[in-house]
Amino acid sequence: MVNEGKLIVFGPVPSRRLGKSLGINNIPPKICTYSCIYCQLGRTNNMQINRREFYKPEEIMHAVEKKVKEARERGEPIDYLTFVPDGEPTLDINLGKEIEMLKPLGIKIAVITNASLIWKKDVQDDLDKADWVSLKIDAVNQNIWHRINRPHGSLKLGKILEGISEFAHTFNGELATETMLIRDVNHNTKELEDIADFIAGIDPKKSYISIPTRPPAEKWLIPAREYDINIAYQVFKERGLDTEHLIGYEGNAFAYTGNVEEDLLSITSVHPMREEGIKEFLTKAQAGWNVIEKLIKEDKLVEVEYKDKKFYMRKFS
Ligand code: SF4
Repeated sequence: MVNEGKLIVFGPVPSRRLGKSLGINNIPPKICTYSCIYCQLGRTNNMQINRREFYKPEEIMHAVEKKVKEARERGEPIDYLTFVPDGEPTLDINLGKEIEMLKPLGIKIAVITNASLIWKKDVQDDLDKADWVSLKIDAVNQNIWHRINRPHGSLKLGKILEGISEFAHTFNGELATETMLIRDVNHNTKELEDIADFIAGIDPKKSYISIPTRPPAEKWLIPAREYDINIAYQVFKERGLDTEHLIGYEGNAFAYTGNVEEDLLSITSVHPMREEGIKEFLTKAQAGWNVIEKLIKEDKLVEVEYKDKKFYMRKFS
């Protein structure tokens, strides 16, 4: 849940999840409840769990109104106003008030949160006001949670998971989850199965699996490889979850350009394709298997196996 700008409002930027998104940076860098090993903003030196005011809600409102007006004058559409700060957005005690103030602009509102404070009733009430909420679920096992998210000392994973379940059952908007995969930390199948079981229990609209695509806080970190990402995808799918990869690619995976290679790379960056699916795709496009061989040779596509079946994925590493 980080962005690269230091302004209160930035964008609109294209987002695969949210279309054209105007980002709202309601937390100054970098105040967070976690210090994730993969955070692209470095380690958290200002760790907090008490909610407070960082900006006046009116200040945020005016900054958003100004950007929306400018975008509208340019004829540029905005699909979502997204709280995606350089820290944890629910630390902002005015979050609910800000969402209420922004609603008259007639644009849907999204919040991307690490969910660490969701056990607080007031945080749930604030998130309830949004149209789309993404919750971070990198681990459901205490040790792994400590290793990957390095939480504030007074946070309890059990309470957070309970809070997530409570919220998921009452939230009327669109719920998404995001799981970051780190090799040798949370990529093992047992933990993935436990994460997927938990996520299946809260029944989100979408579950995203991601890997770090920008320099992480800890240089020793190794992102999961295609093989591991495919396993995670299959484990999630086996539980009926609508799963996609979120791996630094923000194009439209489902808009066919007519260029077979580009289309295959777009689709396989979002989810692995089975061998049969690829064959069907190639037949429709009147192309041959040589396209796949070429993409593999060029190191753009990779073949991975899961339960004796072959899958093809865009190469990330
Ligand atoms: S939740 Fe993790 S990734 Fe997000 S800002 Fe905090 S430390 Fe960084």
